[in-house]
Amino acid sequence: MYLLFNPTLVGYLRVWRNEMTKDPVCGMDIEEGSAQHKCEHDGKTYFFCSAGCRKAFEEDPKRYCGHETGGEHHAH
Ligand SMILES: [Zn+2]
Repeated sequence: MYLLFNPTLVGYLRVWRNEMTKDPVCGMDIEEGSAQHKCEHDGKTYFFCSAGCRKAFEEDPKRYCGHETGGEHHAH
């Protein structure tokens, strides 16, 4: 039953529990629970590392939504 303690799996679960997401403006990882800056757009909540990033998003949301990665692993 050592498979239960596979470090890769544990790390993956930890990321999931903390609900990590990405700042769509600068691409920084944001922890949703501690995010100070957020904005709702198109029924979705976006999180930002700073007021500056949120402002940039609010001024031109389409620019940042057009090629979103959806918070999943991105192969590039
Ligand atoms: Zn940012």
